[in-house]
Amino acid sequence: MSFSSFTLNANLLKAIDNMGFEQPTPIQRLAIPPLLEGRDVMATAVTGSGKTAAFLLPILHRLIDKPRGTTRALVLAPTRELAAQIAEHLHDLAVYTSLTGAAVYGGVSMGPQERAFRRGVDVLIATPGRLLDHFQYPYARLGGIEHLVLDEADRMLDMGFLPDIRRILKHVPKKRQTLLFSATLPAPIVELARDMLRHPVSLNIERKSAPAAGITHVAYPVPHELKSNLFLELLRSSASKNVLAFTRTKHRANRLADFLEKHGVTCARIHGNRSQAQRTDALASFKKGRCRVLVATDIAARGIDVEALGLVVNFDVPNLPEDYIHRVGRTGRMDATGDAYTLVSPNEECSLRAIESDIGTRLPRQKVSGFNYAKTPAERFEVPIAERLAVIRARKSEERVRARENVARRALRETQGRPTRYGTAR
Ligand code: AMP
Repeated sequence: MSFSSFTLNANLLKAIDNMGFEQPTPIQRLAIPPLLEGRDVMATAVTGSGKTAAFLLPILHRLIDKPRGTTRALVLAPTRELAAQIAEHLHDLAVYTSLTGAAVYGGVSMGPQERAFRRGVDVLIATPGRLLDHFQYPYARLGGIEHLVLDEADRMLDMGFLPDIRRILKHVPKKRQTLLFSATLPAPIVELARDMLRHPVSLNIERKSAPAAGITHVAYPVPHELKSNLFLELLRSSASKNVLAFTRTKHRANRLADFLEKHGVTCARIHGNRSQAQRTDALASFKKGRCRVLVATDIAARGIDVEALGLVVNFDVPNLPEDYIHRVGRTGRMDATGDAYTLVSPNEECSLRAIESDIGTRLPRQKVSGFNYAKTPAERFEVPIAERLAVIRARKSEERVRARENVARRALRETQGRPTRYGTAR
């Protein structure tokens, strides 16, 4: 199934294509059609399922032909980070349209947010507390709301936001389309849904709780600073022609790719700091076998679909069990077999144990024979954060001293060169 089978506006389809989404995720496949029809939807879906596009796309589609200048959609999110992330997603999806959006959350000045209310941006994405702060002022009126989304409702409950949500409901019209997304459905959320939604379509996107059979999982305990050397050793002894390696950050993805290239391993990289064209090139070159390793971060790796992948390496232990399942799910597909290696430094043991308890398997710990676990690496993979901060601090203090000297020098020049009644003072 492709996105073009939904009756979505061509400018939205163009943006989807630009973002590299090839196929709708299960929540998108199930939620978009009833939402386009204007139905209310209640869905259990976790972060990473593609739920944001699942609710934004139909809303944007329905708003495109309406006149601008009235806020017609309100998305409520529990945290600033999530609100900012949704706003960013909105920006990417609406890039070929004239639709506008703004995020409204605490910890930053109210001024630009007030202007967003006054302008009547099409979609407002807000955390409950800050939204209520704005409601104290006459400019914050949301009488034009036609779509209301409650994202991560169970987290709202955990954070004590339910009374705020009920208060917010008094400020939006009763006649509207309402969407509720939640990872779990505790009783208070079910009750809230009953009050908020009208004949909703209920969708339950099952959380994948175990990786596919056919995958051999192994954990390799290793000191943090020797990870790259051990990875190289594992590559040398593995017969896998194409290897997908995951790092925790974009910075580490770059470092690892540089390190591998330096040691003669052909590789490509895919992470959030790379343009879509660079990502597409990297993936194409990996798929065509022009490089052996693709280094990726979790977010950038979503949507990567590579057949016959023999080995996935978690260069860093993922923070969430879902991410582990998602990462290793890239191998052992369709009854095929594959290996999933996880490099574990001592301070990552805890995260690995959480993963093991979630997937219900203990990963066998293995050592690579002949690898010197006690050696000091010849080159540094990464400058530790403390050292990086010390360099920044030293540079800033030097700049401050230089600025102070410049001010003193200027003052001296001014006194020396100030004109007197009788000429220039010396
Ligand atoms: P979400 O669950 O909305 O937080 O989405 C998680 C990630 O999946 C985001 O980085 C999206 O850009 C990405 N994503 C959403 N839909 C798709 C899709 N159909 N194909 C590939 N990636 C997607």
